[in-house]
Amino acid sequence: MMELKDVKGVGPKALSLLNKINIYTVDDLVTHYPFRYEVLERNDLAEVIDGGKIIIDGKVESVPILMRFKAGLNKMNFRLVTQSGVVGVSIFNRAFLKTQLTVGTGITVIGKLDKTKNVITASDIKMETLMSKAKIEPVYHSTSGLTNKNLSTYINMALLMYGKEIKDYIPSIYLEKYNFVNKKTALNIIHNPSTMEKLKEVTIRLKYEELFVFMFKINYLKLLNKKKNNGLVREFDQAKIDDFINNLPYKLTGDQLKAVDEIINDLKSANRMNRLLQGDVGSGKTIVSFIAMLVNHYSGYQSALMAPTEILAMQHYNNLCAFLKDTDIKIALLTGSTTKKDKLEIYKGLKDGNISMVVGTHALIQEEVEYCNLGLVITDEQHRFGVHQRANLQNKGVRPDVLYMSATPIPRTYALTIFGDMDVSTIKERPNGRQKVDTIVKKNSEIKDVLGMMYEELKKGHQVYVIAPLIEDSENSDLATVCNLKDQMKLAFGEHYKIDIVHGKMASGAKDMIMKQFKDNDIQILISTTVVEVGVDVPNATTMVIFDADRFGLSTLHQLRGRVGRGTSKSRCILISDSDTERLKIMEKEDDGFVISEEDFKLRGHGDLFGTKQSGDMAFKIANIRQDYKILLQAKKDSKEYLLNKDTDNDELKKTLINSISEG
Ligand code: ADP
Ligand code: MG
Repeated sequence: MMELKDVKGVGPKALSLLNKINIYTVDDLVTHYPFRYEVLERNDLAEVIDGGKIIIDGKVESVPILMRFKAGLNKMNFRLVTQSGVVGVSIFNRAFLKTQLTVGTGITVIGKLDKTKNVITASDIKMETLMSKAKIEPVYHSTSGLTNKNLSTYINMALLMYGKEIKDYIPSIYLEKYNFVNKKTALNIIHNPSTMEKLKEVTIRLKYEELFVFMFKINYLKLLNKKKNNGLVREFDQAKIDDFINNLPYKLTGDQLKAVDEIINDLKSANRMNRLLQGDVGSGKTIVSFIAMLVNHYSGYQSALMAPTEILAMQHYNNLCAFLKDTDIKIALLTGSTTKKDKLEIYKGLKDGNISMVVGTHALIQEEVEYCNLGLVITDEQHRFGVHQRANLQNKGVRPDVLYMSATPIPRTYALTIFGDMDVSTIKERPNGRQKVDTIVKKNSEIKDVLGMMYEELKKGHQVYVIAPLIEDSENSDLATVCNLKDQMKLAFGEHYKIDIVHGKMASGAKDMIMKQFKDNDIQILISTTVVEVGVDVPNATTMVIFDADRFGLSTLHQLRGRVGRGTSKSRCILISDSDTERLKIMEKEDDGFVISEEDFKLRGHGDLFGTKQSGDMAFKIANIRQDYKILLQAKKDSKEYLLNKDTDNDELKKTLINSISEG
């Protein structure tokens, strides 16, 4: 089995740095695609500054002199004639090149120029002149301590060692049909392109592969769900549900009632429910899902509600407990930070059926979790979960009904492609009393105004969210960070108000505690990354200030903005940015999540539409479903054809793909 730590050159330190950028396997490493390429023209000796980077063609003028040091190290020196003069070249540890570097050989030298000594310290020598061609150099997303060169070295070493073993997910029929190169070649080219044409060719091939796998899984799930009369038929006392609805602290909106009706009809019918509940942030999806759980409970089945973050799971759990406090329904919360002892007890309760409703995170789909009679599975913010995670939870029940909730409105065309089999309930109406959030774009130079606005609200006893794109300061970025803003806010407001931070790197117990304090108004200013994006509900928070707002997609900004305007007071969202204000101005005018998502889609491609890049179905490494929509459609067609073709049922690849859906 090939492992990341077995790649030559990857030591424990490199391993932890790679993990930091979400590279855990050899596969992750070789598919860590460059996010852009630098096209390197060759230089003249004269135009490069002292110590500057140089790429230059020339001919070897003197026989290389080789020096050997201890520990097998060596260094080679020779002179090179170039069009702009003669220069010395020294290169370390390439003794093996000596026989090739005969006088008169044309080569390209890449390195750093020392002007006083007139010597290039070469990092690489190519045994051909690039002539008129420019060198195309990949540039990778990385983290401090891990250079672009390191990454490139590790990737190429991994390809050298394991290239052949890396799985190709395109069936051979389609490889042939489209004349695609094999996976190893494609990866080699994407990381070391010699020409733009070749790069383009393999990019299409790799995009196709990614979309093929994605659409295969979607098609497979559709096939599973298609079977008729495969669901649970429920009987329950409608009066109990009506009672519950009538005793809510508010009246459900028309759209909420309609969604409830649609869901109840699904639950009663013999067909399995496979429904997407779509609604803008704050439209009140949660209570609808609670009602579905209640129906499910009264019909004698267990329900599971899965949320993408612990904060959100906890909030749902607390709400659910509050709504059902007068009943004897047993509810449990199961997350990564549930203690071992509690976990075992919950597992037992779920298995023997004592627990009727469970709310949680990914912990709900861990292998140890067995259910007695799981009848309903609900996933909140469904786009954040991968296909296989969804499938996994479904597999826990015999044939449970499934409800997905999403606040990210997906433009219709794409929704049809991706969720073509699902029924959709949409909540458009806002709950009564909710007001539109005033949105203003401000420049960094106007920070004083912003602080003034914050102060106005704080004085009224309201609370403020402050959002930054990053957690800590780093050398290669001057974006606002949570830690830095904390200091600034302390300076401005620390005397009278309590300020604290929350971000994804904190232990979840600590996060939950901070969120609870904010909810209880023990904290007035909460500085955070986008972890507060989903679902968090603090009606007394009336102001949100987002630093470096241009860093976020409009849909994310809309989601963030949905955290305020939850009470009856007028709320405000301030977007701070010096660039991209044209795009941000859309937020000032537009309040409809569907319109915003369409705009975002037009402007940025899918990038942000489906939430964070790291998780969820839409976290493509190379494809972009808007720009690559044509490839997506082809992949959809081909993968369906492949799935339905009985002759390929014994293909290793097909089995692997199907297994990967349920295994995750
Ligand atoms: P989302 O759709 O974003 O998940 P929530 O379900 O969190 O929205 O609801 C947002 C807020 O609106 C919550 O505080 C909830 O209690 C409240 N709410 C939901 N439905 C109504 C309603 N019909 N009338 C008044 N408030 C409501
Ligand atoms: Mg929600």
